[in-house]
Amino acid sequence: MSRPRLEGKVAIITGGASGIGEATARLFASQGALVIIADIQDELGRAVAASIGLDRCAYRHCDVRDEKQVEATVDFAVQTHGRLDVLFSNAGKMGPAGPFLEASLEEWDDIMAVNARGAAATVKHAARAMVARKTRGSIVCTASVVASRGGTRAAAYVASKHAVLGLVRAAAAELGEHGIRVNCVSPSAVATPLACALLGCSPSEVEEYGEALSRLKGVVLKASHIAEAALFLASEESEYITGLDLVVDGGRTIVGQNAPEVRQALSR
Ligand code: NAD
Repeated sequence: MSRPRLEGKVAIITGGASGIGEATARLFASQGALVIIADIQDELGRAVAASIGLDRCAYRHCDVRDEKQVEATVDFAVQTHGRLDVLFSNAGKMGPAGPFLEASLEEWDDIMAVNARGAAATVKHAARAMVARKTRGSIVCTASVVASRGGTRAAAYVASKHAVLGLVRAAAAELGEHGIRVNCVSPSAVATPLACALLGCSPSEVEEYGEALSRLKGVVLKASHIAEAALFLASEESEYITGLDLVVDGGRTIVGQNAPEVRQALSR
Protein backbone atom coordinates (compact mmCIF):
# COMPACT_ATOMS: atom_id res chain seq x y z
CA MET A 1 0.00 0.00 0.00
CA SER A 2 1.36 3.46 -0.87
CA ARG A 3 2.23 5.91 1.91
CA PRO A 4 -0.42 8.56 2.75
CA ARG A 5 0.51 11.72 0.85
CA LEU A 6 0.34 14.06 3.86
CA GLU A 7 1.43 11.65 6.58
CA GLY A 8 2.13 13.56 9.82
CA LYS A 9 1.70 16.98 8.20
CA VAL A 10 -0.13 19.72 10.10
CA ALA A 11 -2.56 21.69 7.94
CA ILE A 12 -4.79 24.71 8.49
CA ILE A 13 -7.77 25.06 6.15
CA THR A 14 -9.65 28.36 6.21
CA GLY A 15 -13.26 28.18 5.06
CA GLY A 16 -13.10 24.48 5.94
CA ALA A 17 -16.66 24.24 7.32
CA SER A 18 -18.30 24.06 3.90
CA GLY A 19 -17.90 23.36 0.19
CA ILE A 20 -14.37 23.13 -1.23
CA GLY A 21 -12.72 23.63 2.18
CA GLU A 22 -14.76 20.83 3.77
CA ALA A 23 -13.96 18.42 0.92
CA THR A 24 -10.27 19.32 1.27
CA ALA A 25 -10.32 18.84 5.06
CA ARG A 26 -11.74 15.34 4.56
CA LEU A 27 -9.21 14.47 1.85
CA PHE A 28 -6.18 15.86 3.73
CA ALA A 29 -7.20 13.96 6.89
CA SER A 30 -7.67 10.76 4.87
CA GLN A 31 -4.11 11.28 3.59
CA GLY A 32 -2.65 11.37 7.08
CA ALA A 33 -2.73 15.11 7.87
CA LEU A 34 -3.69 16.64 11.21
CA VAL A 35 -6.21 19.26 10.13
CA ILE A 36 -7.38 22.48 11.74
CA ILE A 37 -10.54 23.88 10.23
CA ALA A 38 -10.69 27.67 10.61
CA ASP A 39 -14.04 29.26 9.83
CA ILE A 40 -16.79 31.50 11.16
CA GLN A 41 -19.58 28.92 10.89
CA ASP A 42 -18.90 27.42 14.31
CA GLU A 43 -21.67 24.82 14.52
CA LEU A 44 -21.01 23.52 11.02
CA GLY A 45 -17.23 23.60 11.47
CA ARG A 46 -17.42 21.63 14.73
CA ALA A 47 -19.73 19.06 13.13
CA VAL A 48 -17.36 18.60 10.16
CA ALA A 49 -14.37 18.21 12.51
CA ALA A 50 -16.28 15.66 14.63
CA SER A 51 -17.31 13.67 11.56
CA ILE A 52 -13.68 13.54 10.39
CA GLY A 53 -12.59 12.46 13.88
CA LEU A 54 -11.33 14.67 16.68
CA ASP A 55 -8.04 12.75 16.76
CA ARG A 56 -7.35 14.01 13.21
CA CYS A 57 -9.26 17.28 13.01
CA ALA A 58 -9.96 20.30 15.22
CA TYR A 59 -12.18 23.32 14.68
CA ARG A 60 -11.16 26.91 15.50
CA HIS A 61 -13.29 30.01 15.15
CA CYS A 62 -11.27 32.33 12.93
CA ASP A 63 -12.56 35.34 11.04
CA VAL A 64 -9.83 35.94 8.46
CA ARG A 65 -10.72 39.66 8.40
CA ASP A 66 -9.17 39.91 11.88
CA GLU A 67 -5.40 39.50 11.81
CA LYS A 68 -5.30 38.69 15.56
CA GLN A 69 -7.66 35.72 15.06
CA VAL A 70 -5.53 34.51 12.17
CA GLU A 71 -2.37 34.76 14.26
CA ALA A 72 -4.09 32.95 17.17
CA THR A 73 -5.13 30.11 14.83
CA VAL A 74 -1.57 29.66 13.58
CA ASP A 75 -0.33 29.76 17.21
CA PHE A 76 -2.91 27.10 18.10
CA ALA A 77 -1.59 24.81 15.34
CA VAL A 78 2.01 25.27 16.46
CA GLN A 79 1.24 24.89 20.18
CA THR A 80 -0.92 21.81 19.63
CA HIS A 81 1.21 19.99 17.06
CA GLY A 82 4.60 21.70 17.27
CA ARG A 83 4.64 22.83 13.64
CA LEU A 84 2.67 23.97 10.61
CA ASP A 85 3.37 22.33 7.24
CA VAL A 86 0.42 23.27 5.06
CA LEU A 87 -1.93 26.22 4.76
CA PHE A 88 -4.98 26.04 2.50
CA SER A 89 -6.16 29.66 2.42
CA ASN A 90 -9.61 29.10 1.00
CA ALA A 91 -12.14 31.22 2.94
CA GLY A 92 -14.10 33.32 0.50
CA LYS A 93 -17.12 35.48 0.00
CA MET A 94 -18.92 36.59 -3.14
CA GLY A 95 -21.83 38.90 -2.36
CA PRO A 96 -24.79 39.28 -4.67
CA ALA A 97 -24.13 39.66 -8.40
CA GLY A 98 -24.96 43.01 -9.92
CA PRO A 99 -23.83 45.62 -12.41
CA PHE A 100 -20.65 47.54 -11.62
CA LEU A 101 -22.44 50.84 -12.22
CA GLU A 102 -24.51 50.09 -9.11
CA ALA A 103 -21.71 48.57 -7.03
CA SER A 104 -21.79 49.21 -3.28
CA LEU A 105 -18.29 50.16 -2.17
CA GLU A 106 -19.11 48.99 1.38
CA GLU A 107 -19.74 45.54 -0.09
CA TRP A 108 -16.55 45.93 -2.15
CA ASP A 109 -14.60 46.57 1.09
CA ASP A 110 -16.09 43.50 2.77
CA ILE A 111 -15.32 41.18 -0.16
CA MET A 112 -11.76 42.53 -0.32
CA ALA A 113 -11.40 42.16 3.46
CA VAL A 114 -12.22 38.44 3.30
CA ASN A 115 -10.79 37.34 -0.05
CA ALA A 116 -7.71 39.54 -0.46
CA ARG A 117 -6.74 40.95 2.95
CA GLY A 118 -7.84 37.77 4.75
CA ALA A 119 -5.70 35.64 2.43
CA ALA A 120 -2.75 38.01 2.94
CA ALA A 121 -3.07 37.79 6.75
CA THR A 122 -3.30 34.01 6.63
CA VAL A 123 -0.36 33.56 4.25
CA LYS A 124 1.72 36.01 6.32
CA HIS A 125 1.19 34.29 9.67
CA ALA A 126 1.46 30.76 8.30
CA ALA A 127 4.72 31.68 6.55
CA ARG A 128 6.11 33.32 9.71
CA ALA A 129 5.46 30.10 11.66
CA MET A 130 7.11 28.03 8.89
CA VAL A 131 10.15 30.31 8.67
CA ALA A 132 10.57 30.34 12.48
CA ARG A 133 10.70 26.53 12.56
CA LYS A 134 12.57 26.14 9.26
CA THR A 135 9.65 24.15 7.85
CA ARG A 136 9.69 23.69 4.07
CA GLY A 137 5.95 24.29 4.00
CA SER A 138 3.35 24.47 1.26
CA ILE A 139 0.82 27.28 1.01
CA VAL A 140 -2.15 26.88 -1.32
CA CYS A 141 -4.74 29.60 -1.90
CA THR A 142 -8.10 29.34 -3.61
CA ALA A 143 -8.26 31.88 -6.39
CA SER A 144 -10.75 31.36 -9.26
CA VAL A 145 -11.01 31.22 -13.03
CA VAL A 146 -11.87 34.92 -12.74
CA ALA A 147 -8.43 35.60 -11.20
CA SER A 148 -6.80 35.62 -14.62
CA ARG A 149 -9.77 36.62 -16.80
CA GLY A 150 -12.52 39.14 -16.51
CA GLY A 151 -15.99 38.32 -15.30
CA THR A 152 -19.31 40.09 -15.37
CA ARG A 153 -21.63 41.33 -12.60
CA ALA A 154 -19.19 40.61 -9.77
CA ALA A 155 -16.47 43.27 -10.07
CA ALA A 156 -15.40 43.22 -6.41
CA TYR A 157 -15.12 39.44 -6.43
CA VAL A 158 -13.17 39.43 -9.70
CA ALA A 159 -10.82 42.12 -8.40
CA SER A 160 -10.36 40.27 -5.09
CA LYS A 161 -9.39 37.06 -6.89
CA HIS A 162 -6.90 38.95 -9.10
CA ALA A 163 -5.44 40.14 -5.79
CA VAL A 164 -5.17 36.54 -4.54
CA LEU A 165 -3.23 35.57 -7.67
CA GLY A 166 -0.93 38.58 -7.19
CA LEU A 167 -0.44 37.63 -3.54
CA VAL A 168 0.48 34.06 -4.53
CA ARG A 169 3.06 35.23 -7.05
CA ALA A 170 4.55 37.89 -4.73
CA ALA A 171 4.70 35.50 -1.75
CA ALA A 172 6.16 32.67 -3.88
CA ALA A 173 8.91 35.00 -5.08
CA GLU A 174 9.85 36.02 -1.51
CA LEU A 175 9.31 32.80 0.41
CA GLY A 176 11.19 30.50 -1.97
CA GLU A 177 14.44 31.32 -0.21
CA HIS A 178 12.98 29.68 2.92
CA GLY A 179 11.94 26.59 0.97
CA ILE A 180 8.27 27.57 1.23
CA ARG A 181 6.11 27.04 -1.86
CA VAL A 182 3.04 29.18 -2.61
CA ASN A 183 0.51 28.21 -5.29
CA CYS A 184 -3.18 28.53 -5.97
CA VAL A 185 -6.05 26.47 -7.32
CA SER A 186 -8.53 28.22 -9.57
CA PRO A 187 -11.89 26.48 -9.78
CA SER A 188 -14.63 26.94 -12.33
CA ALA A 189 -18.22 26.65 -11.03
CA VAL A 190 -18.62 24.21 -8.12
CA ALA A 191 -22.08 23.73 -6.58
CA THR A 192 -21.42 25.17 -3.11
CA PRO A 193 -23.50 27.64 -1.06
CA LEU A 194 -21.25 30.47 -2.33
CA ALA A 195 -21.82 29.66 -6.02
CA CYS A 196 -25.55 29.07 -5.54
CA ALA A 197 -25.86 32.49 -3.88
CA LEU A 198 -23.92 34.24 -6.64
CA LEU A 199 -25.79 32.63 -9.51
CA GLY A 200 -29.11 32.68 -7.63
CA CYS A 201 -29.85 29.04 -8.43
CA SER A 202 -29.87 25.46 -7.13
CA PRO A 203 -26.79 23.18 -6.91
CA SER A 204 -27.89 21.22 -10.00
CA GLU A 205 -28.30 24.47 -11.97
CA VAL A 206 -24.76 25.55 -10.94
CA GLU A 207 -23.50 22.23 -12.31
CA GLU A 208 -25.45 22.67 -15.56
CA TYR A 209 -23.93 26.15 -15.91
CA GLY A 210 -20.44 24.76 -15.30
CA GLU A 211 -20.99 21.93 -17.78
CA ALA A 212 -22.08 24.38 -20.47
CA LEU A 213 -18.87 26.37 -20.00
CA SER A 214 -16.55 23.36 -19.88
CA ARG A 215 -14.84 21.97 -23.00
CA LEU A 216 -14.47 18.60 -21.27
CA LYS A 217 -17.67 16.57 -21.47
CA GLY A 218 -18.84 13.59 -19.42
CA VAL A 219 -17.59 14.83 -16.06
CA VAL A 220 -19.13 17.32 -13.64
CA LEU A 221 -16.86 19.54 -11.54
CA LYS A 222 -17.19 18.70 -7.84
CA ALA A 223 -15.53 20.12 -4.72
CA SER A 224 -13.54 16.86 -4.55
CA HIS A 225 -11.76 17.75 -7.83
CA ILE A 226 -10.53 20.99 -6.28
CA ALA A 227 -9.52 19.12 -3.11
CA GLU A 228 -7.42 16.72 -5.24
CA ALA A 229 -5.67 19.66 -6.91
CA ALA A 230 -5.01 21.25 -3.50
CA LEU A 231 -3.64 17.90 -2.24
CA PHE A 232 -1.22 17.74 -5.17
CA LEU A 233 0.04 21.26 -4.39
CA ALA A 234 0.20 20.58 -0.64
CA SER A 235 2.10 17.31 -1.02
CA GLU A 236 5.68 16.58 -1.95
CA GLU A 237 4.54 15.46 -5.41
CA SER A 238 4.70 19.14 -6.37
CA GLU A 239 8.06 19.69 -4.66
CA TYR A 240 9.48 21.92 -7.43
CA ILE A 241 6.28 23.85 -8.19
CA THR A 242 5.77 27.35 -6.82
CA GLY A 243 3.93 30.44 -8.06
CA LEU A 244 1.54 28.28 -10.12
CA ASP A 245 -2.12 29.02 -10.78
CA LEU A 246 -3.55 25.51 -11.18
CA VAL A 247 -6.76 26.10 -13.11
CA VAL A 248 -9.38 23.36 -12.60
CA ASP A 249 -12.00 24.24 -15.18
CA GLY A 250 -12.36 21.46 -17.76
CA GLY A 251 -10.82 23.75 -20.36
CA ARG A 252 -13.34 26.59 -19.78
CA THR A 253 -10.68 29.29 -20.05
CA ILE A 254 -8.81 27.90 -23.06
CA VAL A 255 -11.50 29.33 -25.29
CA GLY A 256 -12.82 32.86 -25.20
CA GLN A 257 -16.45 33.61 -24.63
CA ASN A 258 -17.34 33.20 -28.29
CA ALA A 259 -18.64 29.65 -28.42
CA PRO A 260 -22.47 29.78 -28.64
CA GLU A 261 -22.98 27.49 -25.63
CA VAL A 262 -20.65 29.69 -23.57
CA ARG A 263 -22.54 32.83 -24.55
CA GLN A 264 -25.80 31.14 -23.64
CA ALA A 265 -24.50 30.06 -20.20
CA LEU A 266 -23.09 33.52 -19.50
CA SER A 267 -26.37 35.20 -20.38
CA ARG A 268 -28.05 33.68 -17.28
P1 NAD B 1 -18.65 27.89 0.62
O1 NAD B 1 -19.61 28.97 0.86
O2 NAD B 1 -19.12 26.48 0.66
O3 NAD B 1 -17.37 28.01 1.59
C1 NAD B 1 -16.79 29.23 1.93
C2 NAD B 1 -16.38 29.14 3.39
O4 NAD B 1 -15.66 30.33 3.74
C3 NAD B 1 -17.59 29.06 4.32
O5 NAD B 1 -17.47 27.96 5.21
C4 NAD B 1 -17.57 30.38 5.05
O6 NAD B 1 -18.10 30.33 6.36
C5 NAD B 1 -16.08 30.70 5.04
N1 NAD B 1 -15.85 32.12 5.29
C6 NAD B 1 -16.50 33.18 4.74
N2 NAD B 1 -16.06 34.33 5.29
C7 NAD B 1 -15.11 33.98 6.20
C8 NAD B 1 -14.29 34.72 7.10
N3 NAD B 1 -14.40 36.06 7.18
N4 NAD B 1 -13.41 34.05 7.88
C9 NAD B 1 -13.32 32.70 7.82
N5 NAD B 1 -14.09 31.94 7.00
C10 NAD B 1 -14.97 32.58 6.21
O7 NAD B 1 -18.03 28.20 -0.83
P2 NAD B 1 -16.85 27.52 -1.66
O8 NAD B 1 -17.29 27.60 -3.07
O9 NAD B 1 -16.43 26.23 -1.08
O10 NAD B 1 -15.71 28.62 -1.47
C11 NAD B 1 -14.37 28.28 -1.15
C12 NAD B 1 -13.44 29.15 -1.98
O11 NAD B 1 -13.57 28.77 -3.36
C13 NAD B 1 -13.71 30.64 -1.94
O12 NAD B 1 -12.49 31.35 -1.82
C14 NAD B 1 -14.34 30.92 -3.29
O13 NAD B 1 -14.15 32.26 -3.69
C15 NAD B 1 -13.60 29.94 -4.15
N6 NAD B 1 -14.22 29.63 -5.44
C16 NAD B 1 -15.42 29.00 -5.49
C17 NAD B 1 -15.97 28.70 -6.71
C18 NAD B 1 -17.30 28.01 -6.82
O14 NAD B 1 -17.86 27.95 -7.93
N7 NAD B 1 -17.85 27.46 -5.74
C19 NAD B 1 -15.31 29.04 -7.90
C20 NAD B 1 -14.08 29.68 -7.80
C21 NAD B 1 -13.54 29.96 -6.56
